[in-house]
Amino acid sequence: MHLLSIESLSDDHIAAILSEAQRWFDFNRSARRNDHRLDGLTILNAFFENSTRTLLSFEIAANRLGAQVVTMQVEMSSIKKGETLEDTARTLNAMRPDAVVIRHGRAGAPADVAALVDCAVINAGDGTGEHPTQALLDAATLQRHFGRIKGLTVAICGDIRHSRVARSNARLLERLGADVRLAGPPSLMPDGATAMTVDEAVSGADAVMMLRVQRERLEDELGDAPGEFLDRYGLTRERFALAGPGAMVMHPGPINRGVEIDGALADDSERSLILTQVEMGVAVRMACLDLLTAGRRGETGSA
Ligand code: ASP
Repeated sequence: MHLLSIESLSDDHIAAILSEAQRWFDFNRSARRNDHRLDGLTILNAFFENSTRTLLSFEIAANRLGAQVVTMQVEMSSIKKGETLEDTARTLNAMRPDAVVIRHGRAGAPADVAALVDCAVINAGDGTGEHPTQALLDAATLQRHFGRIKGLTVAICGDIRHSRVARSNARLLERLGADVRLAGPPSLMPDGATAMTVDEAVSGADAVMMLRVQRERLEDELGDAPGEFLDRYGLTRERFALAGPGAMVMHPGPINRGVEIDGALADDSERSLILTQVEMGVAVRMACLDLLTAGRRGETGSA
């Protein structure tokens, strides 16, 4: 079994990951947080794009479950000598990892690797494709805070066009019964998307998930003056006041302070779930690694 997209997960897998994640979240706050279910297994991280949260949380998750973790230093690897992704995948596979966690700038790259290796592959973000473990941790964060996902209104705002986070979240949260609203500058909306203003999307929402402007994926500079994006499309205190009572702010990180979100609002522990999302990231990735390696450990499931 691989975890390549939200589509690749059954309803049962999603339910199991979300409920196990809550258990791992509590476990991670306990004094002794070493589990040994992945003893003897090797988890290989191959990140071809930068990462802080995703990479470290996969490393910590695998360590807490007792696995041996190896993180490929892409900058120091033979990729820099021109080795193809396919040859790299065959090479990694020959070292017999039990799971490969991959982030790549090209949508579909993790699926290509999955076709060439004998172990589970987890997509840790593929270009503008998907970021399924981010969506799972966002859903688990909403579940923990609101006690439910069904019936929540979630506004996802900003650079929707380039956001794998938005794509995976829209698919997962709608599947779980949330009302998902997408909004952003017209030039950063996917082709054919119905335009909703950010004000309309935020109005009455239970959660407002802001997205980073993905400058590395923009062909032309936005050309906006400092502060203009925030005023027109970002989450200011004034705009957030339109949200429903008890509404919470989310962001997958990294944050562009003063661009898509007011920095003080991001830091407001009463209103912001951003650091809970990070904490939940470790828990969700523990649940995913556990599920995906179950077959290797002779348990039910297949890997
Ligand atoms: N960290 C998230 C991702 O890798 C969001 C972002 O980079 O803006 O997709």
